[in-house]
Amino acid sequence: MTAEWQGQLRNFVNTIERLEQYVNLTAEERKVLETNTTTWGTTPYFASLMDRDDPNCPIRKQVIPSCHEQENKFGMDNYLVWKENRATDEVRPDSIARQYQDRVAFTVTQTCGIYCRHCFRKELVVDGDLQLDFNVDEGLDWIAEHPEVRDVLITGGDPLLLSDEQIAYLIDRLRQIPHIEMIRIGSRLPIVLPCRITENLKKILSQYHKVPIWINTQCNHPKELTEDTARAVFDLMSCGINVGNQAVLLKGINDDVETFRALHQKLLTVWIRPYYLFYCEAAPGIDHFRTPVEKGAELIRDALRGHTTGLAIPMYVVATNIGKIPLMPDYYIQSKNDDEYTLKNHLGQTTTIPNVPE
Ligand SMILES: *Cc1c(COP(=O)(O)O)cnc(C)c1O
Ligand code: SF4
Repeated sequence: MTAEWQGQLRNFVNTIERLEQYVNLTAEERKVLETNTTTWGTTPYFASLMDRDDPNCPIRKQVIPSCHEQENKFGMDNYLVWKENRATDEVRPDSIARQYQDRVAFTVTQTCGIYCRHCFRKELVVDGDLQLDFNVDEGLDWIAEHPEVRDVLITGGDPLLLSDEQIAYLIDRLRQIPHIEMIRIGSRLPIVLPCRITENLKKILSQYHKVPIWINTQCNHPKELTEDTARAVFDLMSCGINVGNQAVLLKGINDDVETFRALHQKLLTVWIRPYYLFYCEAAPGIDHFRTPVEKGAELIRDALRGHTTGLAIPMYVVATNIGKIPLMPDYYIQSKNDDEYTLKNHLGQTTTIPNVPE
């Protein structure tokens, strides 16, 4: 028997004919699709959330390739090799990306439930320019030999597209490594294929264990959040798994105050806790999605901090080759002298607190 999620993958929307069941293509979109050489597409479920007639639909723009992908003024060549520190002396399997001492990113597949047009890992996932070997056992052996690693972030591609058996094997092997304290999974499936959270997957993930599992998903616009996603996230929580969000700041999709606030408020209504807001990285061919760096901090200042629930506020970061650099708004300390600090709130009001010497 084929599970619903497998049926969704079998009917993956990655041809013009299938796409036309969901949208009326513009001449421009059709032209790009006819000459496109990159991997593109998404699930029928996610495609059904696209606006049939509006080419500026925020979901449509994440799914359908654009002519602007041919432009590249600011993107870096060999971006992933730089970003993931692949050109170093440390001998590591292709599947292990390392920026920190105590945690690594472990890439287990390059298949996704949506080939996001803004993907930072597009050289690997979308363009197929970077060829890597993701041998899971080799990665597991490397992790087992590195006792300083306490946190493993399973990434891709989308790790939840692995079969139930493969996921059970991965988790089981990681949990047998004595120095692993937590397992994290980065997956867009709660957003683009919520029916992947099946009874059997819940069984695999739900056992109480001293090595907890955390999931981070990626949702960039409130339109992506449905009843189906709410149910999937609730089911994950009932397995003891917290779901966080890693949004990407995308020009024309979520870089205005209203959308940005609505996104972060709506995430909490479906049990998803905002974790990071990523600056759109310098991967090649995604200039058209990128804003100035300050934009993310301005949005947190103008849309979230003080204006809504504190839990709705993600940390704004720029992911680089030397790790994630936080760039939160820094206007709060207005001035400081030997006696006091003057602090400003979201309404522009000021107050003072004493400056306590060391
Ligand atoms: C993002 C990332 C991590 C995890 O970073 P956190 O700030 O702990 O979420 C770990 N390793 C690599 C290579 C990463 O890119
Ligand atoms: S799901 Fe993640 S890895 Fe896959 S294309 Fe989107 S951003 Fe890239």
